[in-house]
Amino acid sequence: MRLTYRRNRQKVQDMAQNLYSDTRGRSERPVTFTEAVIDGLAAGGGLYVPEHIPELSLDEIGALAALPYAQRAARIYEAFDIDLPADTIEALMERAYGDNFDDERICPITSLTANTHVLELWHGPTSAFKDMALQCLPKFFSASAKQLREQGKLDHDFMILVATSGDTGKAALEGFRDADGVSIGVMYPDGGVSDIQFKQMATQRGENVQVWGVRGNFDDCQTGAKNVFGDEAFAARLRDEHGVALSSANSINWGRLMPQIVYYVSAYAQLVADGKLGLGDELDVCVPTGNFGNILAAYYAKCMGVPLGMLYCASNENRVLADFINTGTYDISERDFVLTPSPSMDILVSSNLERQLFELTGRDASAIAGWMDDLKRERRFRVDEGTFAKVRETFASDSIDNATCLDTIKRVFDEHAYLLDPHTAVAYQTAENLRGENPVLIASTAHWAKFGDNVYRALHGIAPGAALPDDVAQLSGCELNELIARETGRDDIPRGLAELDALPVRFGEVIEGGTGDIEAAVTRFLDHLND
Ligand SMILES: *Cc1c(COP(=O)(O)O)cnc(C)c1O
Repeated sequence: MRLTYRRNRQKVQDMAQNLYSDTRGRSERPVTFTEAVIDGLAAGGGLYVPEHIPELSLDEIGALAALPYAQRAARIYEAFDIDLPADTIEALMERAYGDNFDDERICPITSLTANTHVLELWHGPTSAFKDMALQCLPKFFSASAKQLREQGKLDHDFMILVATSGDTGKAALEGFRDADGVSIGVMYPDGGVSDIQFKQMATQRGENVQVWGVRGNFDDCQTGAKNVFGDEAFAARLRDEHGVALSSANSINWGRLMPQIVYYVSAYAQLVADGKLGLGDELDVCVPTGNFGNILAAYYAKCMGVPLGMLYCASNENRVLADFINTGTYDISERDFVLTPSPSMDILVSSNLERQLFELTGRDASAIAGWMDDLKRERRFRVDEGTFAKVRETFASDSIDNATCLDTIKRVFDEHAYLLDPHTAVAYQTAENLRGENPVLIASTAHWAKFGDNVYRALHGIAPGAALPDDVAQLSGCELNELIARETGRDDIPRGLAELDALPVRFGEVIEGGTGDIEAAVTRFLDHLND
């Protein structure tokens, strides 16, 4: 069935709704969009996917350029036929993509050459691309919970519990702050995040937010969170005493993925409107990849009819995805986790790859369930030859080592007077290595000032991981950014980062990472909220 987007609201309501089934075929019944957002993960461990991917004609895609970004997003959600009223969707998008972004185009494109275009996904409140989804998901979450409550399918509120290595926590805090019927607590490894990342979280505004440092590393935080999620007695107590269920709202939630499809459709339309691309011309896309959410969104945009060519998957030294795309085997059985200048891509298990394989196998849930079981038991899986051929047709991939990443920042600054963050630098170099004839769109996922220490290393020829000079090492994150801005003659430090030293620190509590310790902290927070 082919869905086209339409402005006729009555018609949308008359249609059969687009439902969501799961990648492992283990859900009892398909669910609605609002249910998929609230559930996050399907029963049996699979990920929700929409049963129908809507298609847009080239003219419909081109026409989006005439609309503000919020309305481009609303059009695409309506095409997915989600079970929220069209005027609710439009109102939510006005709030998700408004003056919380520092550029009214929301994600503007900077063209470095006639056929190298950088899609800047970091103009949101936390200066990283997670904002593109996390300014939107919480609004879907609150609206979905409200609708399910009204339908008598839900009788409680939510608390989001997030373990973060840095970026996601801040973006989630900012997204869920003051959301209806939802509170949020974030745990980060004490001493394991940068000065900027710490201050971004510790100064978080909002009545419904809490932040804890956890003694230990990111793994300890994540394991702690998992144990709390698995404690049924604790869940029952939260329900009875606080009327609250825990949720994670993590990157496998369809409500986080769908907003990412929008910017690929939108960017294509914009390049055409700006005369940089002919309507129908192919555009290749290069994405710095960790959990595979961002690049999967590009794939879905392609399925919707956007003329995208090759999808380039950029890896850092944690090259499990590059190896998979080049060999057909996903293998973490003997792979060490490497620390790189692009920490948001430091990953071994890339969860959204499961959705991608589901699509490339022609939606073969039993194949996916088998591979995911292999991964769990043997820490590896190998796809069949037919699926591998599909992978090779759709993707190409390369990995960029730490030194090359920093060299790329310096080279691009020298050649184009444009400053890349380390994640975007990995994508830039991957595109250089793999590109063919088509113009390339590079997904730029963070502002350089979020990663000032490595940008400084890059500009001064200091090796990755090497100490900064003493006088530089003493600077706060904000002061270091000001130094870089002076040296490079820029004045583009986002306000949310520039003001951090001046904001009051609200959260400084450090807790142990044991299940009981985290549960006690959660309980104290909820008690305090109810006062
Ligand atoms: C999360 C993140 C990525 C990786 O995106 P995925 O969707 O997980 O592949 C890349 N760069 C930055 C800056 C990020 O925060």
